[in-house]
Amino acid sequence: MAEEIDKKIAQLQKLYDESKNIVFFGGAGVSTESGIPDFRSQDGLYSQKWKYPPETIISRSFFDANPFEFYRFYREKLIIKDAKPNIAHTVLAKMERLGKLSAVVTQNIDGLHQMAGSNTVFELHGSVLRNYCMKCGEFYDVDFIAESENAEDKIPHCKKCGGMVKPDVVLYEEGLDQKCINGAVKAISEADLLIIGGTSLVVYPAAGLIDYFRGENVVLINKSQTASDSKANLVIHDSIGKVLGSLKIE
Ligand code: ZN
Repeated sequence: MAEEIDKKIAQLQKLYDESKNIVFFGGAGVSTESGIPDFRSQDGLYSQKWKYPPETIISRSFFDANPFEFYRFYREKLIIKDAKPNIAHTVLAKMERLGKLSAVVTQNIDGLHQMAGSNTVFELHGSVLRNYCMKCGEFYDVDFIAESENAEDKIPHCKKCGGMVKPDVVLYEEGLDQKCINGAVKAISEADLLIIGGTSLVVYPAAGLIDYFRGENVVLINKSQTASDSKANLVIHDSIGKVLGSLKIE
């Protein structure tokens, strides 16, 4: 088994060395290795604490109708204090610096790729680090949202105009940002190697973007099997950090 992994990593190394324009497409598995749990996970205590399923709470209609409950959930489940980039983030940032990787396309909303030093990051589902007043557009950082717990109504309101502040995160029922999609599609369609990591490719429309790839080599790195394994030239069922961390990238 260990031998098989070594063989596959050697194959990935060869693809990396031969490629000039790599795009990385990543999902939740990249963040879980930084200790960020999936907000959809429901443990035994979930129903004691929350009256609705996570997909209901993180929807636009719920946000509009019940911002108090939305923010109670959001602060606890989506704002992860002190999360740090892991080796996968660091290696991808280094690949970009070396001119080998042109973009990271991510479904994650934690901003860890930028924190690791990546510049071109298409955040398909937005970022918890950016928040805007819905009335005047004033920008607020993640601490402002975290601190809204101390507000009288426990909802973040703009200091300038009193409008409600909304995270720049794509909620259920909301469409993806067109500019972001266009950028991701362009990067993917121009790449010669697509590395897909830490995602089971089930969240649409994000997962559909990989269909724009026109290059030869697709590598899929995920701990478990995915429905898209057959689309890849190389499939590695292992930790994304472990796999990327074992590459010689310069
Ligand atoms: Zn405002």
